Amino acid sequence: MAAETETFAFQAEINQLLSLIINTFYSNKEIFLRELISNSSDALDKIRFESLTDKSKLDAQPELFIHIIPDKTTNSLTIIDSGIGMTKADLVNNLGTIARSGTKEFMEALAAGADVSMIGQFGVGFYSAYLVAEKVVVTTKHNDDEQYIWESQAGGSFTVTRDPGEPLGRGTKITLFLKEDQLEYLEERRLKDLIKKHSEFISYPISLWVEKTTTKEVSDDEEEEEKEEREEEEGKLEEIEEEKEKEKKKKKVQEVSHEWALVNKQKPIWMRKPEEITKDEYAAFYKSLTNDWEEHLAVKHFSVEGQLEFKAVLYVPKRAPFDLFDTRKKLNNIKLYVRRVFIMDNCEEIIPEYLSFVKGVVDSEDLPLNISREMLQQNKILKVIRKNLVKKCVELFFEIAENKEDYDKFYESFSKNIKLGIHEDSTNRSKLAELLRYHSTKSGDEMTSLKDYVTRMKDGQSDIYYITGESKKAVENSPFLEKLKKKGYEVLYMVDAIDEYAVGQLKEFDGKKLVSATKEGLKLEDSEDEKKRKEELKSKFEPLCKVVKDILGDKVEKVVVSDRVVDSPCCLVTGEYGWTANMERIMKAQALRDSSMSSYMSSKKTMEINPENPIMEELRKRADADKNDKSVKDLVLLLFETALLTSGFSLDDPNTFGNRIHRMLKLGLSIDDDAGVSADADDDMDAAGNDAEPEGSKMEEVD
Ligand code: ADP
Repeated sequence: MAAETETFAFQAEINQLLSLIINTFYSNKEIFLRELISNSSDALDKIRFESLTDKSKLDAQPELFIHIIPDKTTNSLTIIDSGIGMTKADLVNNLGTIARSGTKEFMEALAAGADVSMIGQFGVGFYSAYLVAEKVVVTTKHNDDEQYIWESQAGGSFTVTRDPGEPLGRGTKITLFLKEDQLEYLEERRLKDLIKKHSEFISYPISLWVEKTTTKEVSDDEEEEEKEEREEEEGKLEEIEEEKEKEKKKKKVQEVSHEWALVNKQKPIWMRKPEEITKDEYAAFYKSLTNDWEEHLAVKHFSVEGQLEFKAVLYVPKRAPFDLFDTRKKLNNIKLYVRRVFIMDNCEEIIPEYLSFVKGVVDSEDLPLNISREMLQQNKILKVIRKNLVKKCVELFFEIAENKEDYDKFYESFSKNIKLGIHEDSTNRSKLAELLRYHSTKSGDEMTSLKDYVTRMKDGQSDIYYITGESKKAVENSPFLEKLKKKGYEVLYMVDAIDEYAVGQLKEFDGKKLVSATKEGLKLEDSEDEKKRKEELKSKFEPLCKVVKDILGDKVEKVVVSDRVVDSPCCLVTGEYGWTANMERIMKAQALRDSSMSSYMSSKKTMEINPENPIMEELRKRADADKNDKSVKDLVLLLFETALLTSGFSLDDPNTFGNRIHRMLKLGLSIDDDAGVSADADDDMDAAGNDAEPEGSKMEEVD
């Protein structure tokens, strides 16, 4: 039965692709196995699908499996599946003569820097076999044809021969004769790890042909006979010698046998019913998915049906990874499967960035298997999946919030993400806002939600007040809170850098405006009497406001009589739509930021003076008496600089400020400024009023 061998030339583009695969250096060769297993899984899907309408299609081989056989004697790795197989025409067309559109695209993508691991997405995954093999032999049997062998060492051509050999029943056997430097793919450990990594959740059993060495103690029959003979000749032996003989009788023999080891033991967890899955199983799956050594904090397993179908398992870890906000690393933690075939784990479109800490699996029934990254970007199905994932994540966070201890953990690790979500995700903003927790003037050690804040709002209070700053300690005693505290209004402490961004987008909660205690526009209701008294104070202090503004010049936008400070002499507020002091601090800390923005957003400071503060009253009197009074000028500058600090800004020139303080100390200690070791030669503002000082004269000119 001499079978006729036919030789075919590879189609030009395929040929080009093959030489690219063979001759270009790729370190990521291991993906070949995923590609071949994925093809097997597809072939199994196809026959399973056909058998749904015609059971007899499975007759030739009722079982659906993938077998993997490493053979060190021939340096070959064989992958067998009982899938649909290929007819002779399929072999010729699919494996060499008809190029898929993806062939060219893949080569272009490679040239543009794409990774070879994307090969499967272009529908040419089979050829990845040549990453590791010098020769590939495909034996295949389709229900509608005889068994054929395809063989090629690349090099421009392949052959197809009818195979009179051992029948497969149905399916495909691919044997890779490995290149000399690729023999690692014969190692059991390596193969097991690879299958686990890339194909653990293939829905067909994948078994590896493994070597098993067993040590057996056997008694040597020949030796036994000899001994008996000797015993007959020599008669009785001494006891010790007899013991020795017994030892010798038992011989250790190593027996090597082979067996199938099932590698993907778990049926994909997402394919099972949630009520049948234990917490431990979810944990095991989570660990295998993430390499986390700890269990997950919470899990959500669901399926979406309707015009679109997918299943998903989403996890929230117990803690944030150390590189959560490392923007260089754009890793996504959602593994995307399409009909049980792993597609990718870094599909940026599948979940928004702020949820990048959520890990899990999504298995879509609708996406095409050979989808490319570019296609994913505009894919409508993916958009719907993403929307659903976000919704489910938020639901999951609310579930976590039902348990205080869990939520504390969650909030500690991921509150920044929630706030980023509020900043970015307008659709879910108000829902996410319910997840916020803050310390406040009334919350003590605990944190409060906005919802709880609202329940505590006082009669007549229409806004939610907050103050932003560097830390709880820094804002707790801020002069901005004086009036609010006095009125009994609760103020939220927003001390996370990202709070500035989040609250900037949030603007309101439950119909209540969020109002910053440090910005312009804080209006507090007063009684009629109080209003009248204020009006009087205001007109009384208006001249001082003008004097102060003249002294400070461009340092402040305007100077007004304050409605928010009760104890402190003054404070500096920022424009309602500009940066707060805290934001200015944050922005200054961002080394690579474009500085054009800062002049526009910052420095819109308004000085608010407290008419009821004795310092201000004294200042007013002195300015009234002589508006060129030098001490007024010095005091105003000192007040301004102190207000910068208490209002959360930083000083541009701390030395000048220090000198001013020192002079005040001397004054307090009744030390003559001219006395002492050396006078402050570099002092720009002399309290004693040294007329020769240039800065002083400049100020006079202004006056
Ligand atoms: P893709 O699998 O993305 O279509 P490949 O280059 O991996 O592209 O495979 C080309 C074609 O070869 C497949 O579409 C399929 O028809 C056929 N094929 C590959 N492997 C197998 C297999 N194990 N069983 C049956 N057909 C296969």
